[in-house]
Amino acid sequence: MSEPAHDRSAVVGDPHRELHDRLIEAGLLFATPVQGLYGRSETYQEVVRALDAMVHRWALTLEATTIHVPPVLARSTFDATNYLQSFPDLMGSVHIFSGNDRTHAELVRRVEAGGDWQALLEPGEVVLSSAACHALYPMLSGRLPAGGRRFEVNGLCFRHEPSVDPARMQSFSMHEVVYVGDPDDAQQHRDRGLRVALARLAELGLEAEAVPANDPFFGRLGTALAASQLEEELKLEAVTPIFAGRERTAVVSANCHRDHFGQPFGIENDAGAPAHSACVAFGVDRITIALFARHGLDPSTWPNEVRSALFS
Ligand code: AMP
Ligand code: ZN
Repeated sequence: MSEPAHDRSAVVGDPHRELHDRLIEAGLLFATPVQGLYGRSETYQEVVRALDAMVHRWALTLEATTIHVPPVLARSTFDATNYLQSFPDLMGSVHIFSGNDRTHAELVRRVEAGGDWQALLEPGEVVLSSAACHALYPMLSGRLPAGGRRFEVNGLCFRHEPSVDPARMQSFSMHEVVYVGDPDDAQQHRDRGLRVALARLAELGLEAEAVPANDPFFGRLGTALAASQLEEELKLEAVTPIFAGRERTAVVSANCHRDHFGQPFGIENDAGAPAHSACVAFGVDRITIALFARHGLDPSTWPNEVRSALFS
């Protein structure tokens, strides 16, 4: 059956599809059977490493502790973040097989018959990580020193948002700089961090602007949550144009959590009150895609200022 005309016009000239195809033809990304899931070339990964180093240099100036976190998160931590209440459609859960010989035989029978073998699995003790900073909070239960603490947290995240937009991946890298401690310092960390992020993006030749933002909260209740997050300016994003004629893309987010994590994880400031936290989250894959879109697909031809800001 032929495609209806309106569908075809949506595909022809789609800037998401166009950049997606160019990145794959150039051998920078490798497609998989799943949308938004890619292999990365060495050239691509060199840019990722350079961006990670750039964030790390900033974190060093804050005397932040560096933690590289795994791509999976303890299920108990996930439950305490309340992520499921707000973003059930984005999360992913890890299931495992813990049967015996009999259930194994049934498992294999179902696989070979193309049947529902997943029904024989059960939830494991981990879920896929939705945000790098989530792994940090259970490590901090207890009393913080005066002035709080700063951390740099880097890891792969999963979000179920299949898309042809190469800047919207299902598995992507997030490099965060987090403060945990007092309310005023949390706000200051967030605001300063966003300014630093904008300055770094400008050095990379990416024109970026800070805008108030909201998370994509799920469902009817989510509309109210998104409105109050916007109104209270808890989330700001650095947005940059990647696709001509389309909305700008968020490449960094700067978030005030208040005591959303301090409270459930029993983190206290030096006065014994629930700690406030704030994170500045660099979407390293997104910035990488933005750089290829802006400066071309061969980093050796990028402007000298950009190359020296990135690779020095
Ligand atoms: P968020 O926790 O939604 O504020 O995400 C932090 C940063 O991660 C965003 O500013 C993006 O740069 C990046 N990010 C979020 N979702 C995706 C995605 N699906 N693909 C690639 N990068 C993402
Ligand atoms: Zn975070």
